[in-house]
Amino acid sequence: MTVSVTGATGFIGRRLVRRLQADNHQVHVLTRSISKAKLIFPDNGFPGIVIAEEPEWKDCIQGSTAVVNLAGLSISTRWSPEIKKEIKQSRIRVTSKVVDLINESPEEVRPSVLVSATAVGYYGTSETKVFDEDSPAGNDYLAEVCREWEATALRVNKDVRLARIRIGVVLGKDGGALAKMIPIFMMFAGGPLGSGQQWFSWIHLEDIVNLIYEALTNPSYQGVINGTAPNPVRLAEMCEHLGNVLGRPSWLPVPDFALKAVLGEGASVVLEGQRVMPARAKELGFPFKYRYVKDALKAILS
Ligand code: NDP
Repeated sequence: MTVSVTGATGFIGRRLVRRLQADNHQVHVLTRSISKAKLIFPDNGFPGIVIAEEPEWKDCIQGSTAVVNLAGLSISTRWSPEIKKEIKQSRIRVTSKVVDLINESPEEVRPSVLVSATAVGYYGTSETKVFDEDSPAGNDYLAEVCREWEATALRVNKDVRLARIRIGVVLGKDGGALAKMIPIFMMFAGGPLGSGQQWFSWIHLEDIVNLIYEALTNPSYQGVINGTAPNPVRLAEMCEHLGNVLGRPSWLPVPDFALKAVLGEGASVVLEGQRVMPARAKELGFPFKYRYVKDALKAILS
């Protein structure tokens, strides 16, 4: 198949592109910057890949079997009012563009599948509730971003199979939350972050890439699918395992202010959490490779 991917140059996208290429699929990287994308996907390592800026996205999408939509400004940063606006607008802008291009495609060249990222932030935060795909949206800022992001994807032509993947905190070596958390964690000898009681709904990078891949190829993957591992943990437990893998004692709590100093308001993603279960992925029989955070961390860090 031929797959167009927005956000292909990011943490998840890079791994997805590699996975698609390994299985001999054609990939179209839809980016804002060809020069940046070429550094990530050099010709010698990624033969045959097509890299396109707008307005060439149109031709790429029209020649594709499927589209994966991952683009958006990273939320792991200090949040100023301008950044908050761009966190939301970047997602809505790119999703809107992709949906319009799909909808405007003549039927014979229209992609038949759209896999669009969203996040577990959709549910809001809670130390006590358990969320699955049927749970209502929360009321905070990230819930609002996810709601509008998903609503934009839902505008896609009804003949296109749409899978909205509500992604949890993705754990992997070269990016994402873990890369930001480890230095702070190491500085404070490695105890829990904040109170430690908040839930941490995580997924290993390999599993989220496999879930997206499955959604591209399996017609049963439709609607909302939580992209989280089957065993979310409280942050204190996650930090204990992290301490063990990194060989750090985990008795001294990392104070909230240290995280906030690095992440600003974006620290709320780690300091307030949600317990999200992958009910739909389980129903679909998705074969998670990493079910326990201890195994995921060991595989990533040791
Ligand atoms: P990254 O931040 O690593 O990459 C996102 C990509 O989006 C970038 O490579 C870039 O591609 C594009 N992008 C960045 N800023 C903007 C902008 N202002 N306007 C338009 N495009 C922009 O993201 P991840 O790979 O970590 O995540 C992929 C998606 O999954 C994101 O939408 C994220 O919100 C969501 N998600 C990720 C989680 C995680 O733990 N990683 C958790 C929950 C959801 P380019 O420069 O090539 O255009």
